[in-house]
Amino acid sequence: MPELPEVETVKKGLEDFIINQTIKKIYLSGLPLRFPLPNNFKTLVLGKEILSVGRRAKYLLFYLSGNISIISHLGMSGSYRVLSSTESQDYIPEKHDHVIFEFKDFKVVYNDPRRFGYIFITDKDPQDHKLIKPLGPEPMSNSFNENTLAEAFYRKDRPVKNALLDQSILSGLGNIYVCEALFRSNINPKKKIKQLVYSDGSPKNSLIILKNKINEIIEEAIALGGSSLKDFSNAEGKMGYFQNTFTVYGREGESCISEECNANIIRIIQSGRSTFYCPNCQK
Ligand SMILES: [Zn+2]
Repeated sequence: MPELPEVETVKKGLEDFIINQTIKKIYLSGLPLRFPLPNNFKTLVLGKEILSVGRRAKYLLFYLSGNISIISHLGMSGSYRVLSSTESQDYIPEKHDHVIFEFKDFKVVYNDPRRFGYIFITDKDPQDHKLIKPLGPEPMSNSFNENTLAEAFYRKDRPVKNALLDQSILSGLGNIYVCEALFRSNINPKKKIKQLVYSDGSPKNSLIILKNKINEIIEEAIALGGSSLKDFSNAEGKMGYFQNTFTVYGREGESCISEECNANIIRIIQSGRSTFYCPNCQK
């Protein structure tokens, strides 16, 4: 599932092509995504110029001329792919292509086999949209720091794994990066969040480390995604994901990467989701 770094990679990849380009044609598969597209979608976006592309958490924001914005979430399996002018000429929509934006020299295809993604359109500031407004601070932003985390964690009994997946506390992190950040911070995913905060409400050192590791991992993942951007427009649409550097995620039963540790990575279920961690390194 695309998380913040992957969506950021998609954003950067698309930006190189679509800024200042006018949407000439739209193809719609007619199949509903997680939510149906608005009926007037075509009318609203045809002929509009793309002024900029933004990202908030896992949402892509396309700012169009005429005060129209598209809010796009990739769900479980959504992807955007740029077709070169040669590829565009004879392109026949494939089975899971749901939206195709046609520009002067190229096309942008939104493909989504599982159709959990969704696309909204708004004539207001997308930052005020009901999906965007309740989101917590972004990793690497000034509003994400040990004090805001300490405030959210103070006297709360939730396991830290679940709290970090809560998009109102911190936005953009999914299962993979939460597992990886907890491993790097040596924090057990089942630890109660109040244990990371002193009784006077100030953050413990472990919480400061956790905040730093979250930022570090997101920064690295974005850099890795970005490094393979040159392949972004190929027909495969492959992007540089972080998967080659997973230390715990998806590694159940394999040995811990820490040289001093002889334990194996284990998998447990928390709130219906798999958590991977090292029982020896993560206390
Ligand atoms: Zn270990």
